[in-house]
Amino acid sequence: MTAHKRYPIPDAIKDTTLLNEEQYQAMYNQSISDPEAFWAEQAGMLEWYQAPTKIKNTRFGEGEVSIKWFEDGELNASYNCIDRHLADNAKKTAIHWEGDTPGEAEAITYQQLHYEVCKLANGLKKLGVKKGDRVAIYMPMVPQAAYAMLACARIGAVHSVIFGGFSPNAIADRINDSDAKVIITSDEGRRAGRSVPLKTNVDKALADGACPSITNAVVLKLTGADVDWNDDVDVWWDELVDDCTGQCEPEVMNAEDPLFILYTSGSTGTPKGVVHTTGGYLLYTAMTFKYVFDYQPDDIYWCTADVGWITGHSYMVYGPLINGASQVFFEGVPNYPDVRRIAQVVEKYKVNSLYTAPTAIRALMAHGDKPAEGCDLSSLRLLGSVGEPINPEAWEWYHRVLGENRCPIVDTWWQTETGGIMITPLAGATELKPGSATRPFFGIEPALFDADGKELEGANEGNLVIKNSWPSQARTVYGDHERFINTYFSTYPGVYFTGDGARRDEDDYFWITGRVDDVLNVSGHRLGTAEIESAMVAHSKVAEAAVVGYPHDIKGQGIYVYVTPNDGVTADEALSKELRDWVRNELSPIATPDKIQWSEGLPKTRSGKIMRRILRKIAANEHDQLGDTSTLADPSVVDKLIAERLNK
Ligand code: ATP
Ligand code: MG
Repeated sequence: MTAHKRYPIPDAIKDTTLLNEEQYQAMYNQSISDPEAFWAEQAGMLEWYQAPTKIKNTRFGEGEVSIKWFEDGELNASYNCIDRHLADNAKKTAIHWEGDTPGEAEAITYQQLHYEVCKLANGLKKLGVKKGDRVAIYMPMVPQAAYAMLACARIGAVHSVIFGGFSPNAIADRINDSDAKVIITSDEGRRAGRSVPLKTNVDKALADGACPSITNAVVLKLTGADVDWNDDVDVWWDELVDDCTGQCEPEVMNAEDPLFILYTSGSTGTPKGVVHTTGGYLLYTAMTFKYVFDYQPDDIYWCTADVGWITGHSYMVYGPLINGASQVFFEGVPNYPDVRRIAQVVEKYKVNSLYTAPTAIRALMAHGDKPAEGCDLSSLRLLGSVGEPINPEAWEWYHRVLGENRCPIVDTWWQTETGGIMITPLAGATELKPGSATRPFFGIEPALFDADGKELEGANEGNLVIKNSWPSQARTVYGDHERFINTYFSTYPGVYFTGDGARRDEDDYFWITGRVDDVLNVSGHRLGTAEIESAMVAHSKVAEAAVVGYPHDIKGQGIYVYVTPNDGVTADEALSKELRDWVRNELSPIATPDKIQWSEGLPKTRSGKIMRRILRKIAANEHDQLGDTSTLADPSVVDKLIAERLNK
């Protein structure tokens, strides 16, 4: 393969970033050599009712996994996100809400946030919600989604946010798995000009006693749409809080009390109800937010995720708010009304750091330079990526078109289970290589293991594990600690297994190669999906590609590629041959695709990740065994792919 491009730290930012290379190294070394001292000192980033004296108590043993951080500390998440800023920053904007329709907007100060959160917290108490109770939240991207999360945190209830795009069945499954007492929703949501029938979906989920744990549904009046009403269960948000005061004493929580449950995306199987606790999670998200986004007090930060994902929890609610940041909260999608929406919102709010996903970047990239046309992006200082490996071609586009060749990109690797960013560049400390998540954050010890459990040294490729615990690590899978142990700690006893593959290069940079389950074995050669997909996307006629293996008589596995061509490109046999030759030259003859199927769209999770396990079944002609498809964004994509499959 051609040598990787490098992007040195721009001179222009060298004197302004929080950390330089030496500072990163010094802090990193201390975080690994003496984690107790390091995290005891960092714990001062939070305000505690009772500062912790016991810092770390973690065991990844065989059959026994127990993870505790700051176990005698006491604090409250909503206090840390809101109240602590009121003395100096009450009038500072916490949330710049930007609606789905351009022109619809609202600014919420920390003072208002406090008022709204306290009122709802008191309202929930009226409904009998107590410390430890679970509350489901099924909301569109409006500020009230954050109020709901923080109101739960304020009274010690455990929130379980369900992405607003999920179906009634997916809602019911999550409610029942977590035994939620109350669900908070709105009449409707809006997305790309269409309405989403949230309340109706909740009604269907609760119908026929399907969710016996639910006593009430709190409904926000947002669009004013007509909705069915069940007097025994339903209560309007505004009526509930009408007689509640704007003061609510935060509940004193132990650092190890659960803060929330969140289900994983379901890319690799049935979603897991990941449990995060209070102290360690808050500290790690606060700290990663500060250093990864190189946060300066006057910054405007914008993460385009949805609160329904871990990115929305850690980097739209807890991380930014603990730091007292001002951020954009966006209800819409990147290509509505047109592909310049992201750039327009950046210009409108003078956004300094923008955090989005490769799926969005690839979708915009298919339109060339148009997504930035006529927009002033000079406020941008830093860009971020999360969710999937970012193909170098997409990285370059992001850097050039939105970043104007000026902004460093932080490619952040992490998971729902890790709570916060684990492997990432830091703007002032890391030379960048497009496609590499680069180096570990403080306290994180990544390592590569082979299939036999042997640790691989130096430049090498293998299964990515984390050797020691970190504060925001998931504590369990809700109600199923066995599954937690089996999924993450049984493959390699003594370490946390991520399920992802990675390569470490000669500079000790990490490159995520894809899911371990997706690795191909072609004539005895192990091939990650990310590299072949990146080679495909690097071709000027390709917008997106997904690679899977299928049974092949001679090679063991053959390479099956689903390709979405760019706008206006004719997909024919000639292009198919061109792409095969291209991959052969770009990457290696071993990686040459055996089959190329054109696809207008790829099956993705609701969070925008390609679901290769479904594509693998289609390629193997086993489409009658697709497994859990409940988190699929658009099932019709799958039907079309099945109809046009090449292995019949
Ligand atoms: P499930 O665990 O249910 O299959 P999921 O793994 O997609 O779903 P998430 O926790 O949302 O659920 O996603 C984490 C995964 O996303 C990581 O394990 C990794 O595969 C991928 N990922 C996230 N960020 C990056 C990144 N910067 N580079 C490469 N891969 C990434
Ligand atoms: Mg996962």
